[in-house]
Amino acid sequence: MRKPPQNPHDLSRHDLDDILGTINEDVRQRFGEGKLPDYIPSLAEVPKDRFGMALALPDGKIHAVGNARERFSIQSVSKVYTLTLALSAVGDELWKRVDREPSGDPFNSLVQLEYEKGIPRNPFMNAGALVTADVVLSSYDDAEATLIGFMRTRSGNPEIGSDEVVAKSERESGHRNVAMANFIRSYGNLENSVDDVLAFYYLQCSLRMDCVDLARSVQYLADAGHCATSGVQVTSAEGATRINSVMMTAGTYDAAGDFAYYVGLPAKSGVGGGIVAVVPHVMGICVWSPGLDDKGNSLLGRYALHRFTRMTGLSVF
Ligand code: GLN
Repeated sequence: MRKPPQNPHDLSRHDLDDILGTINEDVRQRFGEGKLPDYIPSLAEVPKDRFGMALALPDGKIHAVGNARERFSIQSVSKVYTLTLALSAVGDELWKRVDREPSGDPFNSLVQLEYEKGIPRNPFMNAGALVTADVVLSSYDDAEATLIGFMRTRSGNPEIGSDEVVAKSERESGHRNVAMANFIRSYGNLENSVDDVLAFYYLQCSLRMDCVDLARSVQYLADAGHCATSGVQVTSAEGATRINSVMMTAGTYDAAGDFAYYVGLPAKSGVGGGIVAVVPHVMGICVWSPGLDDKGNSLLGRYALHRFTRMTGLSVF
């Protein structure tokens, strides 16, 4: 007779520390794989032999392994939080200025922008993140302080701030982002000056956080918008569902299909090697390992998430 199906969401079935320990050992065998993002010189200097992973549960409990307390540049992981701030400020009006479709193109691609008249495909590719940054800039009196305060409150870490060296490195090498912002502005889809939008964008990308900070910071998306660290309702339950859906279809750019196939969780990556992922109604996750695959996602981070959902059954599928 067929056994009744087991519910993977029942966390008492899993020894999470044991699972993290196994993943950590396996990942360390593969250190050296992946490539550093040499188009941002200061990120190309980070050692590749690092791996951290942290899980944040709705009761505030944390499970962590490896280099989970070493800070790194969060880069595009920040786009989850600016999207949350933009949606809180302008609601569905945001979708008039940026779409929510997967792009199938690399994160820094410009090609669709011209025939789609300056409306980026989604808020997670660079073009869409620039429009989202513009909305945040227009909506909050001091957008930089608002974002930094948001990250500190979500993570419970008052020391979070930006890394001026990384921001400067991006400013000096960000020719593509400059082109993109000007192109979008030519369609009238930026309200603020290109310089102001880029300055905010580089600030958000250069925030330094560790895996525990980021797992805590994304946990509200795993609990219907409620942040366990601060006790605050960050967004509505529906808002959390919507943000998770965009992460699933576009959070890892032109690898979103592959991520759905192998990992099966809403996720957002950054070229600093961090990835946040959400097990809806169960936990927030952050993994970090600096070596990237050819789509700009952490190669070993993705492997770790794949192992995690295989071992626990905790994918959304
Ligand atoms: N700051 C990076 C850039 O603009 C962010 C890209 C990423 O993390 N995917 O290229």
